[in-house]
Amino acid sequence: MLVVQKFGGSSVRDTERLLNVARIVTDTYKQGNEVVVVVSAQGDTTDDLIAKAKELGKKNSKREMDMLMAAGEQISIALLAMAIESLGCPATSLLGWQAGFVTNSTYGAARIKRVNAERIRTELDKNRIVVVAGFQGLNRNEDVTTLGRGGSDTSAVAIAASMHADLCQIYTDVEGVYTADPRKIPNARKLSEITYGEMLELASLGAQVLNNRSVEMAQKYNVELEVLSSLNRVPGTRVMEVAKMEKMLIKGVAKDTSVGRVMVVGLPDEPGIAFKVFSLVARAHVNVDIILQSVGRDGTKDITFTVPAEDGADAVEALKDFCERMGAKDLRYDTECAKVSIVGAGMETHEGVAAKMFEALADADINIEMISTSEIKISVLIALADADRAVAAVHKAFFETND
Ligand code: ADP
Ligand code: ASP
Ligand code: MG
Repeated sequence: MLVVQKFGGSSVRDTERLLNVARIVTDTYKQGNEVVVVVSAQGDTTDDLIAKAKELGKKNSKREMDMLMAAGEQISIALLAMAIESLGCPATSLLGWQAGFVTNSTYGAARIKRVNAERIRTELDKNRIVVVAGFQGLNRNEDVTTLGRGGSDTSAVAIAASMHADLCQIYTDVEGVYTADPRKIPNARKLSEITYGEMLELASLGAQVLNNRSVEMAQKYNVELEVLSSLNRVPGTRVMEVAKMEKMLIKGVAKDTSVGRVMVVGLPDEPGIAFKVFSLVARAHVNVDIILQSVGRDGTKDITFTVPAEDGADAVEALKDFCERMGAKDLRYDTECAKVSIVGAGMETHEGVAAKMFEALADADINIEMISTSEIKISVLIALADADRAVAAVHKAFFETND
């Protein structure tokens, strides 16, 4: 079998952990498998590199930021290859470009166009374990790019897809995908299976255990994923097209605190206003999430919407002139909010799910400021200060009671 195994930053954070990973990899190899390993930077290396750059200023070149961030993975691939060799197995480390990762040029959030895996194949044919740097590639100008935070998951899935691997295992510091972040909710349950659709929602709504692009790509190329612990050798969670074992209504609760809210108060209540507002925001390349339009006083209306926190300033800038021209009373922005969501394909065919979520929040005395729903999720926007309590209350209502 051809197996792709990915290890995150905490799984390779020091020599002891590197040797632990090397043991998992060499065990798989010794069972007669071809093994491609994808690794992240050690521990907090990526954060530390970003902090160093910030000491030099806030507006650093995106190209240089990618050059800098990619350095973290270069260290871990070399060390892991050495750890594997120390256990008596042959290993070769490859940077993203050596492994054939071709991306577009969006520095800091590059998209993988293809993986030209010939070099990986050649090394495997020489019976070597191949250790690939996650999170990085090369654009058409032959400049180094990175895929966005948590991008090593996507690197692993991309290799699995392009080489038609039999298995893609994502090893991390928890035992799988849980009904909520197990570090925050002690009673969270490990799921044995979850569908791509549900996992994609959970990942996009804040469950960082898998990067959402990796799930998107896994679904597109039908790469079955297994999320499991690098520390305890127990079964993890399988992410696949159809999950059959657990017929659960709701699969999980997620929290996203990296949201910001733009409020435009006192716009004229006439046709075309929402169109204009959101065209301007779109032109600034800002993605809008939840939208609320409400009737204000004296024939005016208010429009409130959420955006990724890092885009808040751009959204406000895009609307300033327009608001002035239209005589809007106020243009406000704040990040004192959080989005809490429940996800599950089962809710489509069951009534009362929303009511149950809202009841749990009401009982915890948490005010809902905005709501958005789709077939398989319900999200609410609440005050940032209430976020952890809200996750706990909602999780309790769905997973910790017997009715
Ligand atoms: P890695 O470094 O291995 O990529 P990450 O830190 O990116 O690991 O992701 C693993 C973390 O995701 C866990 O430590 C856990 O705190 C967090 N997490 C958030 N939501 C969930 C969830 N629903 N299930 C499992 N882990 C979750
Ligand atoms: N090292 C990168 C990060 O910290 C990529 C990854 O861990 O997946 O975001
Ligand atoms: Mg991760």
